[in-house]
Amino acid sequence: MRKEVIQRTLVFVKPDGVKRGLVGEIIHRFERAGLKIVGMKMMWLPKEFAAEHYRDTPEFREKIKKKIKESYEMYGLTPPEDLDEAASKLIDDLRSYVTSGPIVAMVLEGPRAIYIVRKLVGATSPEEAAPGTIRGDFSIDNYPFANIELRSIRNVIHASDAENAEREIKLFFKEEELFDYRRADEHIMFEPL
Ligand code: GDP
Repeated sequence: MRKEVIQRTLVFVKPDGVKRGLVGEIIHRFERAGLKIVGMKMMWLPKEFAAEHYRDTPEFREKIKKKIKESYEMYGLTPPEDLDEAASKLIDDLRSYVTSGPIVAMVLEGPRAIYIVRKLVGATSPEEAAPGTIRGDFSIDNYPFANIELRSIRNVIHASDAENAEREIKLFFKEEELFDYRRADEHIMFEPL
């Protein structure tokens, strides 16, 4: 049972987080919650790598198109005629954003780590992210502001979802860059007395 519950997930502090000096603060939040860092490095992603990470899937594109339309309408503006072209611009900006400076990538391990990490990270839009989450505490960007300018929302950090965690860990880290070790507090947190 224990083994099945322990998961690994990928996070990276995006270039806005690195440039704003938030790396230590962010690592601290994961460590103090009890998550184990099993891999960590600074990288400057090439654009092709960003395109592999943020894939232009039909589901992602449809979601972006819907959000762009909603944002324009929320402010009484006429949405772009060609929503596909608008989505392409936004996705291109997303790839430029994550390649605009170095990132700090980490693999975190713990019980149900994928869910726990996304909970600590907060909702995609910082405006909607709860106070106490990383995005809620360190950013005030929002969908309409970003969408009307066809730029990606600046939200400080990426965290894998359940569908992509394994693929993303493999994309960012080689097997030999990940380490198995015991944290000193593991027996207090997780073992029978
Ligand atoms: P995440 O899992 O919360 O990071 O969200 P997604 O995987 O859906 O999207 C990847 C990244 O694209 C997000 O972190 C944002 O930076 C950006 N993004 C996603 N959806 C939108 C959107 O509707 N509008 C804008 N402007 N940016 C978005």
